[in-house]
Amino acid sequence: MRAPVIGVDEHGFLCDPAGLPVEDRRGLLVPGFVNAHTHLELGPVATAKHAGFVNWVGQFRAGPPPSAMQAGRGVYQAIRAGTAALGEITNNGRSSGAITAAKMPARVWHEVFGVDCVAVPADVSARLTPHAPHSTHPNMIRAAASLPGPWSIHFDEDPEEAAWLASGTGAWRPYLERAGRDLSAFDIPGLSPAAYLSSLGVLDRRALLVHAVCTRGDDLDLIAGARVCLCVRSNQHITGRFPDVHGMLDRGIPLAIGTDSLASTPDLDPLAEAAVLRRAFQQIAPEVWLHALTAGGADALDLPVGRLVNGQAPGLLLVDVPDEDPIGALFDGTVWPRRWLECPAV
Ligand SMILES: [Zn+2]
Repeated sequence: MRAPVIGVDEHGFLCDPAGLPVEDRRGLLVPGFVNAHTHLELGPVATAKHAGFVNWVGQFRAGPPPSAMQAGRGVYQAIRAGTAALGEITNNGRSSGAITAAKMPARVWHEVFGVDCVAVPADVSARLTPHAPHSTHPNMIRAAASLPGPWSIHFDEDPEEAAWLASGTGAWRPYLERAGRDLSAFDIPGLSPAAYLSSLGVLDRRALLVHAVCTRGDDLDLIAGARVCLCVRSNQHITGRFPDVHGMLDRGIPLAIGTDSLASTPDLDPLAEAAVLRRAFQQIAPEVWLHALTAGGADALDLPVGRLVNGQAPGLLLVDVPDEDPIGALFDGTVWPRRWLECPAV
């Protein structure tokens, strides 16, 4: 297929669809979306709303295990939703095959757990990445951050994380004890999640902090050198909280958007995720969400997607929104039809 000649406007993400057939000119032409945080291997699980992360984990673990079949469905759903690239967290490596088979640009991180796992796995170069500050030993966090390229960690998703790191109290202690973890192997840092990661020296632009729901004030200052991936539908389901997005933007923290997994969100549609952000933070211009959905995610994953480039059309998506205020309409919560002009995956 001949790549249509396109133009880029002063914002860098809209374009003049010159060169496209006349019948293709309706709608909004955007780069394919970047879903910067998901778990394709995880299918839907019935979990209680607003029960908190510790209870959610307990209910989630009673559900079906990660599967290759689910990962294949997930890739298909992602492509249909207009996703050009993925930040994927795998638990058993099954999603790697599905993503490779679809030729989907992606960062695939292999998630590791264990506050008592002092020894870093020898094969850390397989892009192992820590689950969260409350569930991983600091040696693993430092090792993941020392590798080249972006890395990802769930961060400040629920108040219990801060309670555990500050004083070793709260719901995580009995949970980890029941899980058989040797808590003597983990020195309680006595710090907030932000101060803890800062003390480990791992907060630069390669660090993708997923959620940051509870991060406020001085702690936002501490993470200002990193990036944040917002997954607000998951947050709404698990805790009913929203992150301090205004505080993040005030500090220039680059934002990306992820859907998280089907175990806490209804679908893998990044546009639906952005629509919730638009409704929750109405003073924020919709262009901010379009940037987070495209270039912001691409920068977080360090992948060559998410922008329109003169003369090229990699991953171009046509969204069938009305001609009047198309960017505003894009985030009004409608499941707008969308189609690939040149799909990056097959
Ligand atoms: Zn996640």
